[in-house]
Amino acid sequence: MKRILITGAAGFLGSHLCDRFIMEGYHVIGMDNLITGDLKNIEHLFKYEHFEFYHHDVTKFVFVVGELDYILHFASPASPIDYLRIPIQTLKVGSLGTHNLLGLARVKKARILIASTSEVYGDPLVHPQTEEYYGNVNTIGPRGVYDEAKRFQESMTMAYHTFHGLETRIVRIFNTYGPRMRLNDGRVIPAFIGQALRGENLTIFGDGMQTRSFCYIDDQVEGIFRLLHSDYPYPVNIGNPDEISILDFAKEILKLTGTDQQLTFKELPLNDPLQRQPDITKARNILNWSPTIGREEGMKRTYAYFKSFTPEELLKEEHKDFSKYIS
Ligand code: NAD
Ligand code: UDP
Repeated sequence: MKRILITGAAGFLGSHLCDRFIMEGYHVIGMDNLITGDLKNIEHLFKYEHFEFYHHDVTKFVFVVGELDYILHFASPASPIDYLRIPIQTLKVGSLGTHNLLGLARVKKARILIASTSEVYGDPLVHPQTEEYYGNVNTIGPRGVYDEAKRFQESMTMAYHTFHGLETRIVRIFNTYGPRMRLNDGRVIPAFIGQALRGENLTIFGDGMQTRSFCYIDDQVEGIFRLLHSDYPYPVNIGNPDEISILDFAKEILKLTGTDQQLTFKELPLNDPLQRQPDITKARNILNWSPTIGREEGMKRTYAYFKSFTPEELLKEEHKDFSKYIS
């Protein structure tokens, strides 16, 4: 039985990855410090003999008992609201955390895949974004803590590959959504759905002409699974190229939820990328992967998840209290 360590296991993407690897017959070791994640995302896995959980902060020395074949490093705050509230932890998990996990991979002779992001392209001047594009990032802007941590993470990973011959994989994830996103993490999909369900106006940042391309979680997990098992060590974009403006997307949400709320326009956050669409030629050619779940179906499933929240849960608007994690 293959053994895999998944960091960020109690988060949105990490928990779905745990599900997938359990289903594929792996021994899964989930690791998380719960700073933005929640054990409820993985509580259904504790009944499996082949699932273990370590409550641990990966910026501290990482120790795992037994052999490891694979490591997936997904621990990191991912929503702009989260990483603006915990900027130092965000920098540390991308840098120190990645260093610890690369070291662990070396000791265990494991293959490691790290979760990078479309944010390495910053506010992109090349559209759609190919893996060859170097990006347009403001190092000292509000998003710099996340973007630069991820760029450093890629560099460190490549250095371990070239210098130590470590087997490494890098996925550049574009906006991914689905059940288990945190309702109040500030990302646009839970934000809009939460607002619609509470009967509030939808908040559009800027004029809403900025674009995103949303990928459903099951497609993302499939892409990551294929990349891990490929022999390609360079970055690969995984995302759905179906691009939409935030304004049009808000209108789709109003239609989906059957509500007649208004749109409220707020200031566009600094350095908020104006356009984003993955070029997935590499994923198609190397992994024979392309997305299969369109936005209509994906959003239906996501809405069904959030609709099951109780009125109390929907009203709990305060953001997660990070204070106990700050050291
Ligand atoms: P998430 O916040 O739901 O999950 C992140 C998890 O990492 C949480 O459970 C959190 O508690 C854990 N974590 C954070 N710091 C940690 C630390 N120091 N030690 C141990 N655990 C820690 O976010 P997500 O959307 O699931 O994102 C997961 C990964 O995917 C991140 O690396 C993120 O950068 C990347 N990513 C996600 C998206 C997306 O659209 N969801 C896009 C690009 C990249
Ligand atoms: N956005 C918005 N209203 C919200 C939340 C987000 O208009 O309530 C916009 C945000 O400015 C960005 C886009 O939606 O242009 C996607 O934001 P998100 O935080 O989901 O992810 P990003 O791709 O910016 O990291």
